[in-house]
Amino acid sequence: MNALPATIVAALANVLGDGPVPLHEPHFDGNESRYLSNCVASTYVSSVGAYVDRFEAELAAFTGAKHAVATVNGTSALHIALLLAGVQPGDEVLVPALSFVATANAVRYCGATPHFLDSQESTLGLDPTAMRSWLAEISTMKSGECVNRVTGKRISAVVPMHGFGHPCDVVGVMEVAAEYGLPVVEDAAESLGSLVNGQHTGTFGLLGTLSFNGNKIITTGGGGAILTNDAHLAQRAKHLTTTAKVLHRWEYTHDEVGYNYRMPNINAALGCAQLEQIDSFIASKRRLYESYLEALGQVDGVTLLQEPPGTRSNYWLQTLLLDTDQADQRDEVLKALNDNGFMARPAWTLLSSLKPFHSCPSAPLTGAKLLEQRIINVPSSAGLS
Ligand SMILES: *Cc1c(COP(=O)(O)O)cnc(C)c1O
Repeated sequence: MNALPATIVAALANVLGDGPVPLHEPHFDGNESRYLSNCVASTYVSSVGAYVDRFEAELAAFTGAKHAVATVNGTSALHIALLLAGVQPGDEVLVPALSFVATANAVRYCGATPHFLDSQESTLGLDPTAMRSWLAEISTMKSGECVNRVTGKRISAVVPMHGFGHPCDVVGVMEVAAEYGLPVVEDAAESLGSLVNGQHTGTFGLLGTLSFNGNKIITTGGGGAILTNDAHLAQRAKHLTTTAKVLHRWEYTHDEVGYNYRMPNINAALGCAQLEQIDSFIASKRRLYESYLEALGQVDGVTLLQEPPGTRSNYWLQTLLLDTDQADQRDEVLKALNDNGFMARPAWTLLSSLKPFHSCPSAPLTGAKLLEQRIINVPSSAGLS
């Protein structure tokens, strides 16, 4: 075994003890069983019920968003948020190449094409400087709209994503977006509880989206939410996610093609119990970060990713970044960690290289490619610290 993989395994063993340790487990330590039983007893397990309203109100209070609309998952939340931002069939939407596939899939569900942008090492997220020079190079403004001069298509939105819980430079992205008249939809699926200058991620853009999948910082089994400060958009989000049904005591009238995307009450019951514990989950994850830092701080060749200055990260997934000259060791490190029972995984394959997206437009991805070769996520459950 090479020196670096063995050194990293030994450092992690100092924190985690003996394996096997999964990458991320949910933690059910509060009122989960009680709320779920109440929900079953009420018979309102489906998409109407008090827990949905309560979960939405509590999410709004926690994030500081004026409105939260709960959905069946984070991908459906992104789909609806993009439609509400005005994305139309034939458009292009700017997304980071370094993200989970849902970010690009949701663009496709709107009949639009993802247009990939580069990420910066300091945040893992969209690089506003690279975004500005790329748009200057390839776009032109036509009657207030940003048009890709190469493809002739309208660019209609940008979707910054906060990777592994670390806030991206959303303020910088918002500035560039404003210069080009682009609405911002924040993919905050991984960053519930993460702040930029004290403000919650997902509340900077016109709309933001969350995910409560089983591997996220809190879970509803499957679930998501749309955040917005705009009352009209929130009302539209509710309408579109509930099959566009016109409110009436007995009639079934639908005034447009809607979606069956509303979060069921039974999932929201779990969510209410989970949200009560989020502060302790974040505290645990921050302690785990400190322990990893102590164990890995002196190891040459690898850095533990820290929250960017001016932000507060939820440290959802702990992230090792190999030095550039150690990138060729990534698979050896992954193998050594997994062989020793410490579940570890690389970053996502860049979306621009996936089969459904390889012919989509793309800026140069120098930063994203380097990050893809160097990122390793290590066990991160809240129960570990
Ligand atoms: C988890 C996730 C989503 C949405 O996921 P769902 O599984 O549909 O809830 C979207 N974007 C990113 C970056 C994610 O990590």
